[in-house]
Amino acid sequence: MKEANIKKLKDKLEKKKKEIEAKLRQIADKDPKIKGDWDLKFPKFNGKAGGGSLEEAADEVEEYVNLKPIEHSLELRLQEVNQALDKITQNRYGLCEGCQKPISLLRLKISPEAKCCLRCKKAK
Ligand SMILES: [Zn+2]
Repeated sequence: MKEANIKKLKDKLEKKKKEIEAKLRQIADKDPKIKGDWDLKFPKFNGKAGGGSLEEAADEVEEYVNLKPIEHSLELRLQEVNQALDKITQNRYGLCEGCQKPISLLRLKISPEAKCCLRCKKAK
């Protein structure tokens, strides 16, 4: 792949990374112990002694349950973006993990974090 194309895709990936991290930061805290892992912020039940009403607590738990899958999918997307950035550093970017052939530039422009070509993706 041309250097100029890699640079453009790298810029895109870095922008994506920032966007995903900003979203994650709103609902989760970075786990300092595990790289790439985020912990969803658990509601603090108003912080008052004895907490809020039982109903409020139930609402907050429900919110937590609703946010969990969002946090998880953001975390996965962030991992994919980071893996793609690693590959750029290692000069392996743009190669399909399935068939080892170059992924089409068009596909990478649409999803720069793609790990495999469309044919391999469909075959899964
Ligand atoms: Zn492939």
